[in-house]
Amino acid sequence: MKKVLLFLIDSMMPDVLEQCIAAGKAPGLKFFMERGQYIPDCATVFPTMTASIDCSLITGVYPDQHKIPGLVWYDPDSKTMINYINGTVHVSKIGLEHCATNVLFDLNERHLSRDVKTIHEELEEAGLVSGSINVIAHRGHKQHKVYLPPALDAATGFSLREKVSGPTIMSLGTLVRPNLFRPILWNWSQSAARGYGINDTHAIDVLIEVILSGKQPDFTLIYLPENDHKLHRAPQEAIQHLSEVDAELVRFLDSYSSWEQVLDDNICIFISDHGQTLIGDSNDHNIDLMSLLSTFSIHRLGANVSSKDEIVLCNNERMTYLYPLRADELLKIVAAVATDSRIDLISWKEGHKVVVRRGGTDKSLSFWKGGRYQDVYGQCWSFEGDLQVLDVRLDGEQLQFDEYPDAFSRLYGSLFSQRIPFIVLTAAPGYEFVSEAAPTHLGGGSHGSLHKRDSLVPLLITGASRYFMTPARLIDVKDFILQELGVAIPSR
Ligand SMILES: [Zn+2]
Repeated sequence: MKKVLLFLIDSMMPDVLEQCIAAGKAPGLKFFMERGQYIPDCATVFPTMTASIDCSLITGVYPDQHKIPGLVWYDPDSKTMINYINGTVHVSKIGLEHCATNVLFDLNERHLSRDVKTIHEELEEAGLVSGSINVIAHRGHKQHKVYLPPALDAATGFSLREKVSGPTIMSLGTLVRPNLFRPILWNWSQSAARGYGINDTHAIDVLIEVILSGKQPDFTLIYLPENDHKLHRAPQEAIQHLSEVDAELVRFLDSYSSWEQVLDDNICIFISDHGQTLIGDSNDHNIDLMSLLSTFSIHRLGANVSSKDEIVLCNNERMTYLYPLRADELLKIVAAVATDSRIDLISWKEGHKVVVRRGGTDKSLSFWKGGRYQDVYGQCWSFEGDLQVLDVRLDGEQLQFDEYPDAFSRLYGSLFSQRIPFIVLTAAPGYEFVSEAAPTHLGGGSHGSLHKRDSLVPLLITGASRYFMTPARLIDVKDFILQELGVAIPSR
């Protein structure tokens, strides 16, 4: 049986992929594209941030079920802000130890719901072998020792010398190393300056070595992060950035006797986690939430949440979670931000309903699960109010989405990822939220929102025995792989 390789290329966008191939700058991806099924408009997860998306990719469900609300969120039980590491300024303010513990240990072992299974857990329960290279969400049935570099080790203390769980073959930079016959030879891609191996070069080094060692798992998920970092800084050079990812893929292809041999042995799938939106140059493209909410007392980063605080603000670039700490203040906070037309959507839950407003207008829409209207993904809904708020078109009794792909399920997934009340904000195209110490990208690229520019990703499948169903969603990739590997899909 063929093995499956799933390459997750951060911030790869369909138009850039097509232009890069047309310009002759992506021979590797062109090779796969000419032999596979290409879907340019696969809907990803909301918020369009890597942490929640990775969890959806490996569990096949939205955050209402896997319970990872975003990159940055507030945990009411521990009264702390959870941050899976976003931006060095932010991290230094709330503490490296806290962030490293969140990302290395808590995400997989504490936050990711035990009510859902990861693809690694399901495959290995079915007697197959699974693998994960450089993906932060990696929960599995095997325990792996964490090797912390001295700088991190001193900062994080004893708590991290524990093991983390993962599939049989697991690599996380130099921190978790796969058990192979010989070690991966040291090179600069493993240095502190290059993120201790959390980069494209090291991921491909490990993949090649795993295959050469004869220990290739039935399924391997490989994460390539660098395209995202480069696009945030220089979106106008998008084609060049993707061509550099392609060069790494070519190195992988060249490790075989022929490129065709790769497809004889493997089903190769390429997907992205989210897109990016160009942020305007001028300061007003940063939506300053601290000043919009200046009449409220906002929790300061790094401090414990206290009884004086009224709002905890968790900035996810073009999306923000606002947590009112006093029960009666939610609608007052909505009123304070609703007048700003740079804010695209303002949403919260009322009982089992999702309420959503468009910033700078008084138009609103509520929707809830069940009812006679079916969306293009087969989910049933009821609604009240103005469908234009989410650019939804009613075709008979079918709901069709455009500006906001899979809008109902994705917004629901975010709002029901936690039981407590909170508000979801998204920024209009060209804008980004700015708050205390959060990274900003004026004139650069950013993501996080429900809008299609952040939300539609390319999906390319080569060597599979069946076609991927369209319209495609990222959450359906897991079941597709289980089917290709002959594993029965548990009913959900
Ligand atoms: Zn990013």
